[in-house]
Amino acid sequence: MTYKRYTVRGISDCTVCDNCGKSNLKMTVTLESECGEIVRFGSDCAAKSLRQDYMGKRYPISREAAISAGKAAKRGESFARWSMQMAA
Ligand SMILES: [Zn+2]
Repeated sequence: MTYKRYTVRGISDCTVCDNCGKSNLKMTVTLESECGEIVRFGSDCAAKSLRQDYMGKRYPISREAAISAGKAAKRGESFARWSMQMAA
């Protein structure tokens, strides 16, 4: 399986999700891919499509966890690393 890896960079007040195109969101989570591409995901898409890397395993993220990781990153705290499984 191929995974695209992202680093959580913060919370954006951009209201459009780059993953599904949904608009009128309250906030989006800013993610940076390994090649430096910045994307913004709504918390629903972040929770649905991304997994948190922890101790070599990948765990689901809740919407609340997605938002709090973004807020922590915005404050300059540890940058969470997430993965998204790519369609083969
Ligand atoms: Zn979305």
